[in-house]
Amino acid sequence: MSTVFGGIEAGGTKFVCAVGTGPDDVRAEIRLPTESPEITLGKVIDFFRAQQEQHEIAAIGVASFGPVDPDPNSATFGYITNTPKPGWANTPVAATLEEAFGVPIGFDTDVNVAALGEHSWGAARGLDTFVYLTIGTGIGGGGMVDGKLMHGLIHPEMGHIAIPHNWERDPYSGTCPFHGDCWEGLANGPALEERWGQPGEQLPPGHEAWALEAHYIALGVTSIMMIMSPQLVVLGGGVMEQEHIFPLIHQEVKSQLNGYIQSPTVLDGVDSYIVPPALGGRSGVLGAIALAQRALKDAEQN
Ligand code: ZN
Repeated sequence: MSTVFGGIEAGGTKFVCAVGTGPDDVRAEIRLPTESPEITLGKVIDFFRAQQEQHEIAAIGVASFGPVDPDPNSATFGYITNTPKPGWANTPVAATLEEAFGVPIGFDTDVNVAALGEHSWGAARGLDTFVYLTIGTGIGGGGMVDGKLMHGLIHPEMGHIAIPHNWERDPYSGTCPFHGDCWEGLANGPALEERWGQPGEQLPPGHEAWALEAHYIALGVTSIMMIMSPQLVVLGGGVMEQEHIFPLIHQEVKSQLNGYIQSPTVLDGVDSYIVPPALGGRSGVLGAIALAQRALKDAEQN
């Protein structure tokens, strides 16, 4: 039997599970709607159990929606914690999987794991300090500093930074239940839809919505650039599937920086500095396989 790794991208609307060893070697994959934890985790376990008939699964990695507890030394490691998603608060995801399979479980935020995927096989190969941002239903950010996935007190919540909001230009009050017009509140997919009356994918490229959206995305990106000095900014998520917005963001970022960051990477090459994920929508599930590989290595060293 061949040895493979399990990867789970646990999202608020769907779970993607795969077994394999990397982007060129995915042996099986399944997509499940996110229902209750009992139903969804039950189906996840059924999928991996069926795969175990053909493969030896050496470890499983989880890229989870959050907030989560990613601290391996914590009593609630691998929990989805205070999420507003009905039924999912305080769900012990990692422990449930460990109990079912008895293999090492890696667990981190969806964005940190997508960052790991891009670092392993995508746009961030060879870099040690970079950020991965998802701009979709929510806004979240993860990445690496000095070669380590970003953690800390809990984990970064980059989507909830405050950005300037010109109420005259944009009287919309924002979607965030905690802060109203934080970055996520002004620039996530639901804000785009509510403000303009149609979802992003139906707004044509020349629509004024995109200039404002690029302005907001750039405000968040420049703040993050100032704070962590990333060598690369990867922008993924549903809103960023409208790729015509990238040039607008490049322009806005350069104009907001106003020449202050004196790196040729930004001054001359901003279009290869702020980029879509090289793995497309697969950074999360492939990153989860990379996280499983790490979890096995960590377990072998201890
Ligand atoms: Zn917020």
